Amino acid sequence: MTDCIFCKIVDGEIPAAKVYEDQNLLAFLDISQVTPGHTLLIPKKHVRNVLEMDAVSASQLFEAVPDLARKIMKATGALGMNIINNNEEVAGQTVFHAHVHLAPRYGADDDLKISFLSHEPDFEKLASLAEKIQQTEV
Ligand code: AMP
Ligand code: ZN
Repeated sequence: MTDCIFCKIVDGEIPAAKVYEDQNLLAFLDISQVTPGHTLLIPKKHVRNVLEMDAVSASQLFEAVPDLARKIMKATGALGMNIINNNEEVAGQTVFHAHVHLAPRYGADDDLKISFLSHEPDFEKLASLAEKIQQTEV
């Protein structure tokens, strides 16, 4: 895709600090390091996000995650890692070429904050929503 920044990185038109590459995938350091070693893993072939991927291309992308995560952990000495994938603007996607963030964690006071606000469980609502999702064909 011509005006996609990650396609330009794949094509070598703009530089990136590469940490892993194979036939289908590229991983490079995020230009804005939320924590040291913050890495993006992308498919080389342009696709908007996971919502538009088929099972084969998604498998190729995600099967590389565990080894890459361990590699980054070992190289940085991080204590843990958040693996994040944003799909569409409402979910925080700003670059519309699928990517997985691997963000090493060094402690509760490092620069990454993720919060899940908790709610009292409503078991009837949970059951009916689960049923609805189960019955939905894609
Ligand atoms: P997201 O918000 O999930 O779409 O994440 C996009 C990420 O791409 C952000 O964390 C940006 O810092 C990162 N990014 C944007 N441009 C570049 C670039 N040229 N090289 C490396 N990372 C980039
Ligand atoms: Zn692209």
